[in-house]
Amino acid sequence: MLYFDHAATTPMREITKQTWLEMSSHYNPAGQYGLGRRARSVLDDAREQVAALLGCEPIEVIFTSSGTEADNIAIRGLYHSRASYQRVITTSIEHAAVYETANSLRAFGADVQFLPVTDNGIVHDPAGLLSQPAAVMSCMWANNETGALQPLEEIIAAATVTGTPVHVDAVQVAGKLAIDFAALGATTLAISGHKFGGPRGVGVLIAKRSPAPAAVLTGGGQERGIRPGTVDVAGAAAFAAALAEADTQREAEQARLGQLKELLRSTILATIDDVRINTPEHSLATHLNVSFPGCEGDSLIMLLDSFGFATATGSACANGVNRASRVLLAQGVPEAVARGTLRLTMGYTTTQADVEKLVEVLPKAVALARQAGMASHTL
Ligand code: PLP
Repeated sequence: MLYFDHAATTPMREITKQTWLEMSSHYNPAGQYGLGRRARSVLDDAREQVAALLGCEPIEVIFTSSGTEADNIAIRGLYHSRASYQRVITTSIEHAAVYETANSLRAFGADVQFLPVTDNGIVHDPAGLLSQPAAVMSCMWANNETGALQPLEEIIAAATVTGTPVHVDAVQVAGKLAIDFAALGATTLAISGHKFGGPRGVGVLIAKRSPAPAAVLTGGGQERGIRPGTVDVAGAAAFAAALAEADTQREAEQARLGQLKELLRSTILATIDDVRINTPEHSLATHLNVSFPGCEGDSLIMLLDSFGFATATGSACANGVNRASRVLLAQGVPEAVARGTLRLTMGYTTTQADVEKLVEVLPKAVALARQAGMASHTL
């Protein structure tokens, strides 16, 4: 099986497995005896390593169970910490972890407003909505479906003028682009281990000391009380080791994957008629989102699966539900076109031979899916 769904999850690195196994016999890091102190020191090392890699202070690193949890804690917590503001600003292309979280705040009186995107899938005119202060602004760094990179500097600069805290969902970016939290000027930032070959079920929220998100979970005082609960020491150590390895390989890997993406894009355009590329130029090297009008995305995925390729239509969380992607609709892709979309994403295990094999079978898969698509339209 050739794997083209790295944006959903990336195969775990060897260093992740080894580190996890090595650290898995540690005890509760809150224990005051030697065994506890030893676990604590492993956790402290992991925290320091993550902080050094992400340009923040160790105290700003909060281990969570996922990117989704980190997004929830940040957005809910910042909203509740700023009781005098009702407005929550985000974008129409966020992952469900942010989009649904922002929408759920309506139950607490929030006025949720969405920044629009251009037909390239890039957020535009952030200064408009951000000219007045809001409880919180949340924006992704790179879109999980198209890979489009967002104008974070502009967003953070506009929000800073009115003192609006900014949460950055950097889940797709960690391990691919350099992250310097202090230089970025955001209030909080979320990443997730399984997107860069780290452990599944471990995320990190970077949270400035002030303004800090109010605690939305209650329990012990772990992780500054912002994420109470016994920390998974082995998971934290494995996360740090994976991020360190991804960081060392980052520049060479992104250059290599950028070339593979260009090979994929240009061959698709040369061998298949009537194709729409939804990934803009300014995007991650790993993502190519492409629509084949006349196809149903689900048919394409099933056909490619039968040919030995794992691909996706969009966000994995939306799979199983046959509808056009909210992200593509927001960037103006017509619904009928958006339904015939493939998200092809690559990572450190992808080779040129994988890409060559994929482009060889794609024309056949698209032709078959178009026949099936037309059959269903004429029924
Ligand atoms: N944010 C983005 C942009 C994502 O791509 C994902 C996962 O697909 C998440 C948040 C959620 O991360 P996790 O799977 O760790 O909960």
